[in-house]
Amino acid sequence: MKTRTMAEPYKIKMVEPIKMTTREYRAAKMREAGYNTFLLKSEDVYIDLLTDSGTNAMSDWQWSGMLLGDEAYAGARNFYNLEKAVQEIYGFKFLVPTHQGRAAEHITSQLRIKRGQYVPMNMYFTTTREHAERAGGIFYDCIIDEAHDAANPFPFKGNVDIAKLQKLVDQKGADAIAYLSVAPCVNMAGGQPFSMANLRAVAAWAKKYNLPIIFDATRAIENCYFVQQREPGYANKPVREILREMMSYGEGMTISSKKDNLVNIGGFLATNNESFFTKAKEMVVVFEGLHTYGGLAGRDMEAIARGIYEMVDDAYIASRIRQVEYLGNRIKDAGIPLVVPIGGHAVFLDAKKFLPHIPQEQFPAQALASALYVDSGVRGMERGIVSAGRDHATGEHHKPKLELVRLTIPRRVYTNLHMDVVAESCIALYEEREKIKGLRMTYEPESLRFFQARFEEL
Ligand SMILES: *Cc1c(COP(=O)(O)O)cnc(C)c1O
Repeated sequence: MKTRTMAEPYKIKMVEPIKMTTREYRAAKMREAGYNTFLLKSEDVYIDLLTDSGTNAMSDWQWSGMLLGDEAYAGARNFYNLEKAVQEIYGFKFLVPTHQGRAAEHITSQLRIKRGQYVPMNMYFTTTREHAERAGGIFYDCIIDEAHDAANPFPFKGNVDIAKLQKLVDQKGADAIAYLSVAPCVNMAGGQPFSMANLRAVAAWAKKYNLPIIFDATRAIENCYFVQQREPGYANKPVREILREMMSYGEGMTISSKKDNLVNIGGFLATNNESFFTKAKEMVVVFEGLHTYGGLAGRDMEAIARGIYEMVDDAYIASRIRQVEYLGNRIKDAGIPLVVPIGGHAVFLDAKKFLPHIPQEQFPAQALASALYVDSGVRGMERGIVSAGRDHATGEHHKPKLELVRLTIPRRVYTNLHMDVVAESCIALYEEREKIKGLRMTYEPESLRFFQARFEEL
């Protein structure tokens, strides 16, 4: 049977107008911005798919909670509401709020990594890895090989490769490992989930060596939806139950609330390990704020608490991920090359295959992201040779296998008609792809160059 259309399980009560512009206007703005979508002004963007981080639309229930902010320095009622939400939904007893996810990563890394210890991760996230390395840790990639292949349709490309973990223990010993950092719906792999069976096996393996799992739970609920849809035995389980099972295999978690939790700012760490919690409480005071606000206003904590209850609504999470799939399938059905399976939060165009006439040194993904903006006012971002930076030793560009344009879907913000505009723009560009020109870099910052690099057309 054909799947029936599922509309958004919410209706729109407040709107934010967005500016309609002409192609000439956008071509001028793109030139002024040095062909870098990060340097465009948001007001010149029609549909903003730069990131899903902090770009969520909050509900009326969350907004009304904002008015109930208890802006006391200590012991605000909203802290206790958030603590209760974390206990009920994630299942961890102890909560330390922070202003963003990276602050929770900072505290966790400083407290749990001894200099020279390995931190195995299923691929990596930029800030997670950076904080582990700053604490003296050594990043060790333990994701399965399939994750590194954009065309491989394996449904659980976020899985951990236990053989890689075993190899590390055999060579270095379990004491050389700080903890396992496991991320659901791996961002850098294209929003790809792990299976519960894989997590269960990883947890059993870790127990043998007394190694804790600390989740980067930023996109956990999106992973739970894929488990429900794809894994035998989970079809009839609510995502709320699936999440509790998932988290039960870990000792704790860090999270950026700017994703799953449906808010614009915030994060936290949570754990069942009381001594870790005690030390984290001491440290958060130094870097963030008192342990009952951690750099957040009372109203922010209330919005996060309410967002946590809203994210485990099965209809909501289905509509969120089905919107990403809707966009991906429209692009795929037109024969345009993209990363498969379509991930939980974004669609990734394969710029190398889209623009085979542009060599990687002429930045095909950067050129494609620019062309997309000029065509329709849609803003995506480059994930390829520009983002990969240079080899510090040789000064040469890193040449990543994947040369992608990321189209990231904010939660509850756009309708499927917006997705149609995006898809039609991709299709129009694909039909005239040989007209898209390569770029030359005219300004190159020393680190994280993709944010501020400037280009001109060849
Ligand atoms: C966004 C993100 C972070 C960092 O969180 P911030 O709130 O941006 O500091 C960490 N891990 C993952 C997987 C993320 O997507």
